[in-house]
Amino acid sequence: MTATPPVPEPAPHPVPGPAPKPVPEPGEGPHAAIALSVPACTSCDICVVECPAWCIELESHAEPVPDLPPGARARTHRVLDSFTVDYGRCLFCGICVEECPFDALSWSPEPERPGAVRVDLVRQLAAGAPTPD
Ligand code: SF4
Ligand code: SF4
Repeated sequence: MTATPPVPEPAPHPVPGPAPKPVPEPGEGPHAAIALSVPACTSCDICVVECPAWCIELESHAEPVPDLPPGARARTHRVLDSFTVDYGRCLFCGICVEECPFDALSWSPEPERPGAVRVDLVRQLAAGAPTPD
């Protein structure tokens, strides 16, 4: 009587892992900073209202619209004083960038910088915005 040769163990199937994520272009990554065009911003507050994390705050004031034609009714417009994003709460969802009707918000080519302390993540984006007298 001859011994039965041992049955070889089946080779383990490679377990498929998650597909590698494509490397984002600068400014297209999930943690790119948000850039604000101060001249384009009308202080309409839409981004403030639409942000699901309530991390945008802005302040503005009313000023008379200059250079109205003779006889035109006096009108005012909003002028931006400050605009902050709290990156400690930001979801980087891009809703503010998508919803701004004046294309004042965009993803910056620079990634968002880390902060040493919590308050460092509250960024003032409207530096240089005119301030009220
Ligand atoms: S950034 Fe856009 S949506 Fe936000 S207040 Fe300015 S104009 Fe409005
Ligand atoms: S990216 Fe999303 S969470 Fe961040 S400020 Fe814009 S709307 Fe708010």
